[in-house]
Amino acid sequence: MKKIPELYGSLVFNDSVMQARLPKDTYKALRKTISRGTHLELDVANVVASAMKEWAVENGATHFTHWFQPMTGITAEKHDSFISPFGDKIIMEFSGKELVRGEPDASSFPSGGLRATFEARGYTAWDPTSYAFIKDGSLCIPTAFCSYGGQALDKKTPLLRSMDALSVQALRILRLFGDTRSKRVITTVGPEQEYFLVDKALYNKRPDLIYTGRTLVGSRPSKGQELEDHYFVTIKPRVSAFMKELDEELWKLGIPCKTKHNEVAPAQHEMAPIFESTNVGTDHNQLAMEMMKTIAGKHNMTCLLHEKPFAGVNGSGKHNNWSLATDTGKNLLDPGDNPDEQFLLFLAAVIKAVDDYQDLLRVSVASAGNDHRLGANEAPPAIVSIFLGDELTEILDSIKNGVIYQSRGQTSMEIGAKVLPHFPKDTTDRNRTSPFAFTGNKFEFRMVGSPFSIAGPNFVLNTIVAEVLSQFADKLEKSSDFQKDLPALIKDTVVAHERIIFNGNNYAEEWVTEAEKRGLSNLKTTVEALPTFIEQKSIDVFTKHGVLYEEEIHSRYEIVLDNYCKTIHIEALTMLDMVKQEIIPSVFEYESVLIKLIEKKKASGFNESLESTYLTKISELTASLYQKLEALDNSLMDAKGGEDSLSLASFYRYTVFSAMSELRCIVDQLEQYVAKKYWPYPSYGDLLFSVLL
Ligand code: ADP
Ligand code: MG
Repeated sequence: MKKIPELYGSLVFNDSVMQARLPKDTYKALRKTISRGTHLELDVANVVASAMKEWAVENGATHFTHWFQPMTGITAEKHDSFISPFGDKIIMEFSGKELVRGEPDASSFPSGGLRATFEARGYTAWDPTSYAFIKDGSLCIPTAFCSYGGQALDKKTPLLRSMDALSVQALRILRLFGDTRSKRVITTVGPEQEYFLVDKALYNKRPDLIYTGRTLVGSRPSKGQELEDHYFVTIKPRVSAFMKELDEELWKLGIPCKTKHNEVAPAQHEMAPIFESTNVGTDHNQLAMEMMKTIAGKHNMTCLLHEKPFAGVNGSGKHNNWSLATDTGKNLLDPGDNPDEQFLLFLAAVIKAVDDYQDLLRVSVASAGNDHRLGANEAPPAIVSIFLGDELTEILDSIKNGVIYQSRGQTSMEIGAKVLPHFPKDTTDRNRTSPFAFTGNKFEFRMVGSPFSIAGPNFVLNTIVAEVLSQFADKLEKSSDFQKDLPALIKDTVVAHERIIFNGNNYAEEWVTEAEKRGLSNLKTTVEALPTFIEQKSIDVFTKHGVLYEEEIHSRYEIVLDNYCKTIHIEALTMLDMVKQEIIPSVFEYESVLIKLIEKKKASGFNESLESTYLTKISELTASLYQKLEALDNSLMDAKGGEDSLSLASFYRYTVFSAMSELRCIVDQLEQYVAKKYWPYPSYGDLLFSVLL
């Protein structure tokens, strides 16, 4: 194996490759596009395309593909070879036009009504800020995807737009503080990715895992995570081999994987990369998820990315670590040793943004799968709040009360002055229960579900923070006394938004009551959350900053609801099939064994009361199983047509999904009574502990 520094980025057309292979002028023009977000001319693109092709072919590529992120949440690719006829022969060709623009048929991707099916045209446009790479013999070019009319049909476009918006507003603030050097502010992201690994042979025996990514039935194992003996424990050899290969493959793609460990639940693990620009970090996370699945397969395992593959066992999320940085390398959310007013202003902006737009953040992570975590007595809750930690909270409290801040250290001083007391970073404990936690120099948004594209939550976060920064800039640019108005603005903001700050236990029952008193939203399900996405307030903030146009907002709303209904529909059908095709027949088989045994015992004069009791219990359960089965079947028939998407989604949530839960409850009881040998599916215990051995 190559040494890691050589391996790292070896399949990426990255900065050093560009520098080595592009003419100086072309390199400079491209660099400017990448760092400043400026347009690129076609003649430059032609030169870049040719160099890219040379490099890709040298590295074994035969095809190229525009690699994009339609609203399915996963990536899409359509491969074309480089070949072009040349007399009797062929040559390998790739033009600037092919690099910058593609024209995939858009009719089979979700558009939420933005485009009628017969209007098939869609375009992909090269995103030069994310490096091209080679995967499976194809040169992959990261692209944005839009309709014939220019509306975004993907996840990347609004993300890029939101990064522009945030940069514009953050620079206005930085100029007020005398920063004339920074030319762009970017957002950074480090997504911690949780996942489960199960044995492939067992996975293949579970239609629910195959079709829906989660177990629809399954009684709890006798041992789960209660002993807390899985988190951080030594990694077992089979998992370790998987992780090693994953690291290597991701390093080749220039994805900076840094951390790997076992998670809280048995068979659950985590991978965290070093943070990058949000755009690149998002592409990399998509790639990482894809690689996890591919590589798990090679190791005879299956990687489950669903938010809740197993009931009663820890779910999987994605911790979206997020911050702001200037192109000069300053992290704007780093308090440093002496948190100054610039830091406090940015902090106040995030606090206000999260409070003002808590519903939008909630919507950004809404899906049928994530409903099993958020608002379902699972971490974190559906209530958005911010954890700041003791020290920052105390600083903000002193600002609010206009008193002198007593540092835990030696220094004390008046807040509002330039220099605040020494601020030891780790004086504050962690809070693992908070959905939005300040963790030293970044915020960690923990409500994101494990299979999500992080583009959604990040474009929302960028937009709402851009909005508050623009409000701040509007005020302060007009101020005739900056030194006085600045601390006043910080103070007013903190006072107005302190309800969103909660440093306690977010899992506690009391928090739900307390949050309600504070007027915070508690949108437990996708169906409850989604309508807030199309409220005027949301439309205003997205359109003002050019992140989403009104029709794009409506289309996304339709897509999420449609996906929600389809997900539950597929789950219900799968469950019905499992029960009808395998569970009931297996139960009958076991019953006939019991009947035979009872008859034999009777005939030989033995007491068969225990067997009879058992049989009665199973018969009773099977009878109610049949009732619940019919109820689910009927509910699906009722879930048809004519209704608007929200009512249909509500029907799926409150009728179909509830019928599924009731059916499951009986199935799981039956599983405990039927001999394992007759039960058609691997148990929770089998699935959760198979790979640990
Ligand atoms: P943990 O939160 O588990 O203690 P760390 O704090 O080390 O772990 O980092 C978690 C993730 O946060 C990593 O992916 C890391 O790269 C990322 N991170 C660190 N600093 C920043 C930042 N300024 N912006 C975005 N992500 C960051
Ligand atoms: Mg973390």
